[in-house]
Amino acid sequence: MKQSLLRALKAVVGADGLTIDPTRLKAYECDSLAMIRRVPDLVLAPLDTREAAECLRILAEEGPPIIPRGAGTGLSGGATPHQGGVVFKTTRMRRVLEVNELDRFARVEAGVVNVDLSSACSHHGLSYAPDPSSQQACTIGGNVANNSGGPHCFRYGSTTRSIMGLVVVTADGEVHELGGPEPDAEGYDLVGCFVGSEGMLGVATEVTCKLIPAPETSETLLALFPSLDGACDAVTELIAANLEPSAIEILDRLTIEAVEASVLAAGYSDEAEAVLLIDVDGLNEEVRATVRDIEAIARSRGAFEVRTATDAKERRRLWAGRKGAFGAMGRIAPDLYVADVVVPRTRLKEIVLRSTELCRERGLKVSNVFHAGDGNLHPNISYDRRDADEVARVLDAGTEIMKACIAAGGSLSGEHGIGIEKRDEMHRVFNEDDLDAMLKMRAAWDPSGQMNPGKAIPVRGCMEVKTKPVAVAANGGSQ
Ligand SMILES: Cc1cc2nc3c(=O)[nH]c(=O)nc-3n(C[C@H](O)[C@H](O)[C@H](O)COP(=O)(O)OP(=O)(O)OC[C@H]3O[C@@H](n4cnc5c(N)ncnc54)[C@H](O)[C@@H]3O)c2cc1C
Repeated sequence: MKQSLLRALKAVVGADGLTIDPTRLKAYECDSLAMIRRVPDLVLAPLDTREAAECLRILAEEGPPIIPRGAGTGLSGGATPHQGGVVFKTTRMRRVLEVNELDRFARVEAGVVNVDLSSACSHHGLSYAPDPSSQQACTIGGNVANNSGGPHCFRYGSTTRSIMGLVVVTADGEVHELGGPEPDAEGYDLVGCFVGSEGMLGVATEVTCKLIPAPETSETLLALFPSLDGACDAVTELIAANLEPSAIEILDRLTIEAVEASVLAAGYSDEAEAVLLIDVDGLNEEVRATVRDIEAIARSRGAFEVRTATDAKERRRLWAGRKGAFGAMGRIAPDLYVADVVVPRTRLKEIVLRSTELCRERGLKVSNVFHAGDGNLHPNISYDRRDADEVARVLDAGTEIMKACIAAGGSLSGEHGIGIEKRDEMHRVFNEDDLDAMLKMRAAWDPSGQMNPGKAIPVRGCMEVKTKPVAVAANGGSQ
């Protein structure tokens, strides 16, 4: 990169906002999909919208790929600089700008960590609903770009339902204010268009988030099952009975063992083949009745124990085990491939069985922890990325699991986005016209194609990109 360009950028963000040291750049070679890596040429970390706009204006002259990045917890390679370029990270933009109790919204900078927004609004008796299991680290901007889900999205919807407005800087350095706290903005729903766009339309620098009143009561139930099938059947039945918990999660035996052997031991069970973890929110009376009905259904489907957390401390412990489950898998193997697929709920147990078979046929160890209420499965395959043959088998199993889900009426991704991981599978659910329409929409925001190129949409012709995941050395050389 030209010295004059670096000098111009440094004049905007200062020495703390610019990284060119090769050792420090290495920290940005991938997101949490560790099997695809490339060290970026530069990392920029602006402090606010003005700095972000100024940097993008300067970079527009040179035209390198710009890869927006929050905390890098994404699981589909979305923030991985697989073509090199400039990682544009938002983690220095982390101010909560406003919490408006009366109109129930918060305005935050994009680098605010999800859990920090929750605690900022809890002082006002309000809550921000989307709660990815990575919420201790992931940013609101990353949640917006991936339209992230989380356990409580079963009742409150994924991120798109909670975003009212955005400040976005496009690749040419223009600042755009989209939507806002007013109930129904005129014109096209550009906020809806940006949410889920995986960093390909621009960099979100500020986000206006919808807040909801914290419930009068919340109860957490744990139901222990002798089989995963029983737990899946209970989920289908309780939803069919119009019960409306706020979260419905399933953990299988291998996951329970990993959690219980970790610092996050939650006291789930020594005997259960599956646990169902359910939250019920609402008014006292309503919650009591729903808990009673859920317990009856769980027992009728074979649960041998159903218990309700006795206090807030126990609730936190039960949820910490669930939310820390991916991390706990580190006990099984050095790396974890978190597949993310979605199927109609009634097909859950069939697909869990099929994905387990597909992994076993390839000599792979798989565990399951998932947002059962949404039919959103995470078959988690433990592996070692230093073993190229094992990586190939993991990817093959991932593709076969995806195909099985599509055949069962499901889709490519429940919540982690497409990124690089699933880009070349998009043709399984979209035809050429669909993909062309997506590219045209992208070009309307970013005619230069600078923003996060080669992600999510397979491109053709002169823009063709054929990056495939490859195994890398443990010390992480470029792909
Ligand atoms: C342990 C663990 C648990 C997880 N649990 C869940 C879960 O329950 N639900 C769920 O949905 N996901 C989950 N994830 C995936 C991940 O945490 C989410 O996708 C999250 O939203 C990513 O946020 P981030 O700040 O880390 O974004 P990054 O990984 O840094 O980026 C993700 C994508 O967003 C783009 N991007 C980031 N910031 C911006 C911005 N300001 N403007 C424009 N584009 C931007 C990037 O280019 C990239 O394409 C989990 C991941 C881990 C590691």
